[in-house]
Amino acid sequence: MEHMVIIGAGPCGLASALALHQKDIDPLIIEKGNVVEAIYRYPTHQTFFSSSDKLEIGNIPFINEKPKPVRKDALTYYREVAKRNNLRINAFEKVIKINKLADEHIVVETNKHSYVAKNVIIATGYYGQPQLLNIPGETLPKVSHYFKEAHPFYNQNVVVIGGKNSAVDAAIELERAGANVTVLYRGSDYSPSVKPWILPEFTSLVRREAISLQFNAHVTEIAPSTVSYKIGDEKYKIENDFVFAMTGYMPDITLLHEAGVKVDMKTGRPTFDEQTFETNIENIYVAGVVISGFNGNETFIENGRYHGEHIAKHISKHK
Ligand code: FAD
Ligand code: NAP
Repeated sequence: MEHMVIIGAGPCGLASALALHQKDIDPLIIEKGNVVEAIYRYPTHQTFFSSSDKLEIGNIPFINEKPKPVRKDALTYYREVAKRNNLRINAFEKVIKINKLADEHIVVETNKHSYVAKNVIIATGYYGQPQLLNIPGETLPKVSHYFKEAHPFYNQNVVVIGGKNSAVDAAIELERAGANVTVLYRGSDYSPSVKPWILPEFTSLVRREAISLQFNAHVTEIAPSTVSYKIGDEKYKIENDFVFAMTGYMPDITLLHEAGVKVDMKTGRPTFDEQTFETNIENIYVAGVVISGFNGNETFIENGRYHGEHIAKHISKHK
């Protein structure tokens, strides 16, 4: 039997494992993709808004040439942290069910094996599930909820939906690569969530009409060669080749729900003790962005990296 199974090898799952090592517990981490899968799936040229010291886990220095690391620096850092601490990670194995039995044992079922654990931490993040628009045409091959690189979109008519950091980053990179960019944002002004060092470049591109930005724009339909939207009662249809719907991400709450963890269906927030991170099901904990439900702008690596310390403290004292 495993003393602890951690589901998810994101920064917060890894940080939880390091905190448990400090208490002489060697957890098994089960990860459906690779180590720090979400960061691997970021835009290729992503720069973090956090400085490298704020992304450190387990007090292991993240030394970087520039103050703000890029995606590749973070991949190297977290990979090395896992390697040097001999973290036990079963990669490319997906947890499909968590079931607490009457005898208190927790069965963790994956697509490959079944494990029995005394404790479980669910640190499954949100990046695997985009917030959908639920409009006609959203599943067309020209629509993506993830942006990787701008190069292929040179000279193409590209619509970016959304107005926060992912949308603004994608719009700027696409414009630089020569795409004809239209941003359709439902907000009535620039979002205060956009990082202050990014906003000036974006507003300047909009002012110079290098990027077309429509506020109060609600996309109603995507077709193979057009995008339709409404502003108030006015209807618009524009020529379009590709769509990046940068509408945010949300945790997969089914795993929590099926494990018996109470989840507020409106906010997506699991029920847990804010001191110990234990859920309403004894010995099942949550860590990382999954605690914030559908609010993607509350928990980051910067603060989620400490959740495991609370869990480790609680387990070593009480279990
Ligand atoms: P994740 O990193 O999402 O890790 C969860 C892991 O669980 C994933 O690897 C996933 O594959 C795995 N998983 C999910 N379901 C299962 C399952 N059923 N079975 C097995 N494994 C499973 N935050 C900052 O603090 N600073 C920044 O500068 C910053 N920049 C960002 C830039 C971008 C473009 C984006 C999208 C986010 C950024 N964030 C930043 C937010 C940051 O990425 C998240 O806060 C962080 O990834 C959360 O860590 P986590 O461990 O909770 O979840
Ligand atoms: P986000 O912050 O959740 O923003 C989603 C955007 O899509 C918002 O503008 C939102 O509108 C809009 N939206 C959501 N649902 C919609 C719908 N149904 N119809 C129309 N519009 C909709 O997502 P994100 O920008 O991808 O950011 C996710 C996380 O990654 C955040 O934590 C962010 O800080 C982080 N991030 C960091 C960096 C960086 O470090 N450089 C870069 C990108 C992202 P409203 O504004 O009205 O809510």
